[in-house]
Amino acid sequence: MKKRIGIVGGGQLGRMMGFSAKQLGFDVHVIDPTPQSPAGQVVDSQIVADFKDSTAIRKLARKSDYLTFEIELANAKILNQFAKSGVKVNPSAKTLSIIKDKFLQKTFLRKNRIPTAEFIKIDNEYEIETTAQKFGYPFLLKARFDAYDGRGNALIRNEKDIKNGVEKLKGRKLYVEKFVPFTKELSVVVARSINGDIAIYPLSETVHKNNICHTVAAPAPVSKKIKVKAEKLGKKVMRSLKGAGVFGIEMFLTNKGDVLINEIAPRVHNSGHYTIEACITSQFEQHIRAVTGLPLGKTDLTVPAAVMINILGERTGPAKLRGLDKVLRMPQVYVHVYGKMETKIDRKMGHITVLDKNIKEAYKKARLARKYISI
Ligand code: AMP
Repeated sequence: MKKRIGIVGGGQLGRMMGFSAKQLGFDVHVIDPTPQSPAGQVVDSQIVADFKDSTAIRKLARKSDYLTFEIELANAKILNQFAKSGVKVNPSAKTLSIIKDKFLQKTFLRKNRIPTAEFIKIDNEYEIETTAQKFGYPFLLKARFDAYDGRGNALIRNEKDIKNGVEKLKGRKLYVEKFVPFTKELSVVVARSINGDIAIYPLSETVHKNNICHTVAAPAPVSKKIKVKAEKLGKKVMRSLKGAGVFGIEMFLTNKGDVLINEIAPRVHNSGHYTIEACITSQFEQHIRAVTGLPLGKTDLTVPAAVMINILGERTGPAKLRGLDKVLRMPQVYVHVYGKMETKIDRKMGHITVLDKNIKEAYKKARLARKYISI
């Protein structure tokens, strides 16, 4: 009988995991609240339900030999119960519960002596003001939970911004983080297998706008010293966490050459999409290998340079793909469309990866390709 994988979350990450899992011969089932979700369109079946719905997760677990997730919103408590009853859940539910609470994640980093921005938990507006005196402006007000793609961040530049920030994040548990005046944002994708082997992908540079990832370039244009430092830090984070799977580790590089951890994602990551065309093993196949007890694949680049550019939504309404023919005339340009029915401002609708002889050329081509296409 075929082995079965259950994925909590049916977005683009689940879709790309699904392609890899199908290639390796697994049956794949997902949970996602949107019917015909990006992953639901390409796997064997989708349960239409919320990620936190315990009955639905139980149903998924009954269909699965291995359970994994593509979203931090997954219900850690229930996943933990399955782990105890024998379904192989990876990354571990314990790791998920540390990471999904950004404040707990920062505390975990501090405890493990991993450098990160200074932070403080706050319970009311008064505490924000006292923290402002301590940290100085600017700083970030951040939601502890369900805060991806910048949806839980407010930049506080002065006293007047506090009210707006509190209003923006109303009703959510918050903490304050010191602003890091970074010169670059970096990322490493790292995998760990069930037996503890670690494989690290090349360091990449990420560029965010409005808190959302826009482009990723690999290898990151940094000195060997920075590269070694960042990769060492990535490995240290991995040794501190439990469970198998692929993790995305986002970092800040300061002008003093310090590398700080910004955030860990316990899953395949936007900064690793370039690995599909540019590395020996893609992060998606690597994740499937890792959570099912298969050996990890090599992570080396097979090309000198790769640039990934996200196709973000530019309006609200039904999605319509335009310009594909023009882009597909370009050599070494790879288009990924996620199959989302509706577009929204800044929604991740697809991405383009460009391979070239150097980062500069790849950037040039990626920008041109992005101009041609719209969803
Ligand atoms: P996050 O979702 O918290 O990773 O934040 C998204 C983006 O906001 C990051 O990639 C940075 O560009 C920016 N950001 C987050 N935290 C900080 C910080 N402490 N200092 C400066 N920029 C930040």
